[in-house]
Amino acid sequence: MKQFFSAVGRLVRQFPRTHLLLAMVLLGGVIIIALQPEPAPAPQRATKAIELPARPAAKPVEQPAPPQGPQWQTLTVKAGDSLSSLLQPLGVGAGQVYALINSDEKLERLTKLRPGEQLEVLVNDDDALRGVRYNPSKVETLTAKLTGAGWTARLSQREYQKQTRFAQAEITDSLFLAGAAAGISDRLTMQLAELFAWDIDFVLDIRKGDKFRVLYEELYLDGEKVGEGDILMAEFWNQDRHLSAFRYETLSGDVEYLDIKGDSMRKAFIRTPVAFARISSRFNLSRKHPVLNRIRAHKGTDYAAPSGTPIRAAGDGKVIFAGVKGGYGNVIILKHGQIYTTLYAHMRSFAKGIRVGKRVKQSQTIGYVGSSGLATGPHLHYEFRINGVHRNPQTVPLPKARGINDNERAEFLIAANRLKAQMTLFAEAATLASSDVF
Ligand SMILES: [Zn+2]
Repeated sequence: MKQFFSAVGRLVRQFPRTHLLLAMVLLGGVIIIALQPEPAPAPQRATKAIELPARPAAKPVEQPAPPQGPQWQTLTVKAGDSLSSLLQPLGVGAGQVYALINSDEKLERLTKLRPGEQLEVLVNDDDALRGVRYNPSKVETLTAKLTGAGWTARLSQREYQKQTRFAQAEITDSLFLAGAAAGISDRLTMQLAELFAWDIDFVLDIRKGDKFRVLYEELYLDGEKVGEGDILMAEFWNQDRHLSAFRYETLSGDVEYLDIKGDSMRKAFIRTPVAFARISSRFNLSRKHPVLNRIRAHKGTDYAAPSGTPIRAAGDGKVIFAGVKGGYGNVIILKHGQIYTTLYAHMRSFAKGIRVGKRVKQSQTIGYVGSSGLATGPHLHYEFRINGVHRNPQTVPLPKARGINDNERAEFLIAANRLKAQMTLFAEAATLASSDVF
């Protein structure tokens, strides 16, 4: 710029006044043109409407029309339509459709078009399909382009706008009725129950007057509510206990629900409930029973161990049976969370204090190895059930229950305390709004 102005200065000295004036005017025009910003590129739009490139205003002089490139066309799927039948009227043959669909597994979505959906296609003058745009859902856009190297596909996802919401309720009849009264969906109530399922038996433990608070996300697209997201934090007052759970996304991207200490809300299982035992009989659905001497499924694992060896609870849970059960002899059944039960049979005796309704911790001694019931010698017969179905205790995938890593603990505590403060604010506002709650 400096050089430019000194050049102007030189001109001023070299030219007579009239010429100078003209030169200034011309130069001014040049500067104005030079300072005009470049026209911004038109923003890419992901709407379904046909995009026509903006044309310059018609010029007074007749010019031959520039060759028209292929244009995007919008197709609406009707009942019974397939991608082939939609493209056929445009001259696109089945071979091209086949090549498109099989070029990328993301494009298999195009074989599941539903009536009413729309699809944008780019077909050139030689009836060659060059591009496809499709929205498989409100948040997804699938784009396919034909290049020299073949089809390339991209699936992009729009982000929901999220709003934090608060709900609280006191239980008078059931958790679901309380949830409905608090204005949350059954799905969210279910999520709440699952969160606390390892600590609270929602069939047996719930008492009138129990209460909960929950912070959760509501999802929006273009300002319109489209659903509920995750629970961010939940608290539960059950009888004399107060439990809280915090949603936390770990550095590796896993979402976990943790208590305030950073322990997982899901509790772990130990694989073997008797230490230093030897497996004497495996899970086998067509085993010959050693005492009954006939085919009878062996729906558990036997651990041979000296009489009196302690038997440990496989996981945190609750005693739902402790007593004698036919050939099983002395049996304890534990319930863990919502779907898991473990069974311990042929016990010599139960540990002190073990009775129905008692809560046990993982690895806590619940009884002692014996040979009560139909047993050839002292051993523990151990069963693992998921939703009532017997699974092989040796191989069943056990639920993961990782707490927070030590290097993330500080981060988690900050996040958890932020949620706690938010919960308190919402709760206070709700109390102000209607002082008869709680
Ligand atoms: Zn057995």
